[in-house]
Order: sequence, then structure tokens, then C-alpha cells
Amino acid sequence: QAKAAGRGRLRLFDPGMRAALHNRVREESALREALAEARITVHYQAQFDAEGRVTGAEALARWHDPARGWIPPAEFIPLAEDCGLIGALGASILEQACEALARWQRQGHGRLTLAVNVSARQFHEVAFVDTVRDILHRTGASPWRLRLELTESLLLADVEDTSEKMHALRALGLRFALDDFGTGYSSLAYLRRLPFDQLKIHQGFVQAAQQDPNDDAIVRTVIALANTLGLEPLAEGVETEAQREMLAAYGCTACQGYLLGRPAPEAEFVARLDAEAAHPTE
Ligand code: C2E
Ligand code: MG
Ligand code: MG
Ligand code: MG
Repeated sequence: QAKAAGRGRLRLFDPGMRAALHNRVREESALREALAEARITVHYQAQFDAEGRVTGAEALARWHDPARGWIPPAEFIPLAEDCGLIGALGASILEQACEALARWQRQGHGRLTLAVNVSARQFHEVAFVDTVRDILHRTGASPWRLRLELTESLLLADVEDTSEKMHALRALGLRFALDDFGTGYSSLAYLRRLPFDQLKIHQGFVQAAQQDPNDDAIVRTVIALANTLGLEPLAEGVETEAQREMLAAYGCTACQGYLLGRPAPEAEFVARLDAEAAHPTE
């Protein structure tokens, strides 16, 4: 019988699966190493108001591997979630972001808001609220200037836990954006019950709206919904002036995208702020 089980196991691990498993183990240890060596850093993408002024930034995680080059967050964030590293990785990102925010506050850019993405596993970890509180305390960043970006799937994973933690963090002063709105399945009832202050329109809708009447309808509906509920609509992935004009005509003036600024290292982001402060007409 043991022999039969052994044979079964052998069949389970055919060469293809063995290679996949091996690859996965290698990726996990590469991530672990990158985290230990602080090779996962943060870039900042500016966010703008109707007048084209920078109102803040979104922190975006960046992993540069000496051998493989840049590895996109869409790959390593899910990997970190799967192998139990998301708590440590998320805390490292949040800490780097809050250190930057505190620096900006000291450098005379105190009105900026910094948005940080939080993944579902990270948010639902028992210690999440304490971790945020500790990081704010350690870095001296103003909680009023920090906005967490949550996704619809996160809300639905555990509605009670989501609500409790959001309200606890709200009491500390934090604000919340619902990221990639329209790509998930959140119910409108949650939108009213949970303390969001901003709805981010997914870039896929923004970019397709001028070709596809369905996407156009979604963009208009999401903006109207946000404005009705007293949330600020912010359009992601704005790449052309025509998209920006369309969004403004629909009532969405807050935006973020390659048209106005790409994610960049902190020094580059701050240089831009300083340049704008020196030439306020632009
Ligand atoms: P997201 O939060 O929706 O971030 C916006 C993504 O769109 C970013 O990709 C940004 O670089 C990209 N983007 C911004 N403007 C434009 C544009 O005009 N055109 C196009 N084509 N893309 C634009 P990125 O940095 O690769 O991040 C992808 C996703 O990975 C993020 O989507 C977010 O869900 C996740 N992510 C990134 N950093 C973190 C993090 O620190 N923590 C967590 N949990 N997730 C993160
Ligand atoms: Mg985001
Ligand atoms: Mg997202
Ligand atoms: Mg998004």
C-alpha cells in the first residue's frame, strides 16, 4: 500500500510540476531576500486637481532585482500574499511612505496627501491597525495626510472586520480611497456604510471611454455616483488631454496618469514640487 501511495505521489509530481514548484520556491526566497535587503522601495506618482496642481501622490512599490530587472507589483504583491510575507512587506512599504510624507511635511509640502495601497491579506491581519499606529508614531507623519487605498475584494473578504478596522483608522485621522472602482462586486450599501472619501475610477474604463459607449457610461455613472454620495472621484490612468477634458466635463477633475506625471523616485517627485512652487503659474 505504501508502494502504491509512493507511485501516486510520483505521478503527481511530473517534470512540469516539479519545474513549476522549483520556480515558485526560488521566487519566494528571492522575495524574502529582497525584503531583508531592503531592495523593495517606493515610487511616487503625483495626483492633480482641476487647476493641474499637485494635491498629493500615490505610493507604488518597486522591486529591482539585480539579475531580473524591475519586477512589477502585480507579480510580487500576490506572491507576498501567498507566501505569508505581505504583512512584513506591506509594513515596510507603509513605513517608507510615511517617512517620505513626514519629510515632505518638514520641507514645506505639508498639504500633500499620500495614498498607500493595502492588500486584502495585509488589511485583515490581526495587527494591522496597531502596525499603522506604530508606523505613524515612529515616522511622525500626520495621519490626516495619509489615505489608504482599498479594493472591492478586500471589503467583501470580511465585511465586519473591514468596517471595524476602517472606523478605528478613521478615528486616528486616516482617509480611504476605493481603488479600481467598478472592477469588483462591492454593493452600494457598503459604499455608504464605510468611511471612504474618494472613489478611484479604474484606468481601463478611463482609457476605453472614448471608443466604447459602455465604458463611457460606466465612467459617467461612477462619477455621478461618487458626487451624489459626497465622495471625491479621482480618475486613474489619464494619458491624454482629451481624456482629461472628458472627465472634467463629467464632473471629475481629480486625476492621476502618465499625461501629468509618471511614478518616480522620491527625489524626482520632490524636485517637481519645488519647481512648481517656484513657478506657480504653470
Ligand atoms: P493601482 O493601485 O491601481 O495603481 C495604479 C497603477 O497604474 C500603477 O501600476 C501605476 O504605475 C499605473 N499607472 C499610473 N498612471 C498610468 C497611466 O497613465 N497609464 C497606465 N497604463 N498605467 C498607469 P503599478 O505601479 O504597476 O501597480 C499595479 C498595481 O499593483 C497597483 O494598482 C496596486 O494594485 C498594486 N500595488 C502597487 N504598489 C502596491 C503596494 O505598495 N501595496 C499593494 N498592496 N499593492 C500595490
Ligand atoms: Mg492604487
Ligand atoms: Mg489596485
Ligand atoms: Mg487603481
